[in-house]
Order: sequence, then structure tokens, then C-alpha cells
Amino acid sequence: MSTEDFPSSSTQPLHDLHNRWPQAESVDDFRHNLAAVHARIAAACARVGRDPAGVRLLPVSKTKPEASIRLAHAAGCLLLGENKPQEAYRKWENLQDLPDLKWSVIGHLQTNKAKLVARCASEFQALDSLRVAEALERRLQAEGRALDVFVQVNTSGEASKYGLHPDEVADFLRQLPAFSALRVRGLMTLALFSAEGERVRQCFVLLRELRERLRQEAPEGVSLDELSMGMSGDFEIAIEEGATVVRVGQAIFGARATPDSFYWPTADGDAADK
Ligand SMILES: *Cc1c(COP(=O)(O)O)cnc(C)c1O
Repeated sequence: MSTEDFPSSSTQPLHDLHNRWPQAESVDDFRHNLAAVHARIAAACARVGRDPAGVRLLPVSKTKPEASIRLAHAAGCLLLGENKPQEAYRKWENLQDLPDLKWSVIGHLQTNKAKLVARCASEFQALDSLRVAEALERRLQAEGRALDVFVQVNTSGEASKYGLHPDEVADFLRQLPAFSALRVRGLMTLALFSAEGERVRQCFVLLRELRERLRQEAPEGVSLDELSMGMSGDFEIAIEEGATVVRVGQAIFGARATPDSFYWPTADGDAADK
């Protein structure tokens, strides 16, 4: 497959990505990459007068082997993002010897995988249907657990992206207090994949403005404090627009060989687990 066939977090060919984000192969590499990302977070915050303490960095370990995750953990990463529930669950199971390592599932969930998330995740960032809320609630009750959740919103208007249409979010939030095991923390989005910063920024602005609008009328127990937006290619723009959580994989772990079209449907509709 040509490296230009898929939408990546940047529009560069794969070999450029590998030059830009070399693989982290030691605890020191991870420390160095984490420090560099934190410095960029601080600089973005300074540009808009925000306190960097208000931005949480969520390192994303998808596709990376357990050996890399152990290095990241040794460098201080205690909560890691995974896109696929099965992959999160497998890593959670195999890394039980690191009891302080927690998992955030940030990708689309099918109801038949709710059990995995209810068991292994501390956070779920891609809630976008009542069916999934119901399935999670049932499984969480059975496990005797609660879960922090973010409602995913499609801010790019691309049919290829998961998430609720912005107009559906208010109604959706009104239903959520019925699910006592789901602790709603905020909204999450994936911006348009584009080299045009202004178009990317519009996605983040939309999410922030939606949050401001919905905050006043949010039902009891539903908090909209968090805005999870921004990835390796665009997290500084997201911070300028109010992100409180940035999900950063490649700038910490190194470039991925797997195209992003594996993780969410492309315009051609060929996602791996649709
Ligand atoms: C992979 C992924 C990220 C991180 O992307 P990078 O380009 O590695 O920073 C963020 N959010 C979601 C939902 C992802 O699947």
C-alpha cells in the first residue's frame, strides 16, 4: 500500500513521520520525549495565558509492544490510552505486575466488547450511543465499578468519524444520569486531519463552544469540565482552544507503522472493525 493512501495525523508520507518521531527505545528516550511534549504544552499555555496544570497529557500506546509500555511506565506514565478495547484488555491482563498502571479506552466501542472496558478501563473517552451506555452500565454494575466517561462529538462533519452530531449532544446528556456507574467528565473529539491549521482549529472551537452552551443546562451529576482534544499533530492548537486533556501517541512512543485508517473509518469506509 502506498503510504499516501490513508489519512494520517499529518499528511506526510510514513518515512517522514518516522524521521519526525523516532522510536522510543529506552526509559531515557521516554523521559526526553515526555519532557519535550510537556515543554510544548507549557509554551502553548503561555501563548493564551493558561496554567499548564490545567492540561493533562494522556500518552497513547496503541500498537506499541508491552516492552515499550514497561519503559513508558518506568518513565512515569501511569495512565495510557488505547484505541481498541481488545488491545487495552490484553495489555491490562499481561501487565498485572504493574498495579499502578491504568488504562483509558479512547476508541469506538461495540456493545459486545463493553465487558472488556468495564473490567480493564479507568476511563472511556468515546461514548456516543445509548446502547453503549446501557451495555457499559450493566457490565459495570456486575463488576461493582464506576467509570469516568467522555462523550465523543463529531466536530469535523466527516461521515467517516465516530461521535455524535453536535446537535444531538444536549439530548444525549439528558439521558445519562440514568446510568449511575458512568461518571460524565466532559467531551472528546478528533479534529479534521488537515495540514490547514485554521480548519483543524475550527473543530476545537466548535467543541469548546458546545461545551460552554451545554454547561449551564447540564443535568445533575453530569460534569462538562473536561475537553479531550488534540493529538501529536495538533495538540498545541487544541490547547490554545481550551483542551484539558491531550491524547499524544507518536510524539512520545515514536511513529506507528499502522495507518490511522485502521482506527477509524476512512472516507472509503474500510475501518478494521466496523
Ligand atoms: C491514536 C490516537 C491518538 C493519538 O494519535 P498520535 O498521532 O499518536 O498522537 C489520539 N486519539 C485517538 C482517539 C487515537 O486513536
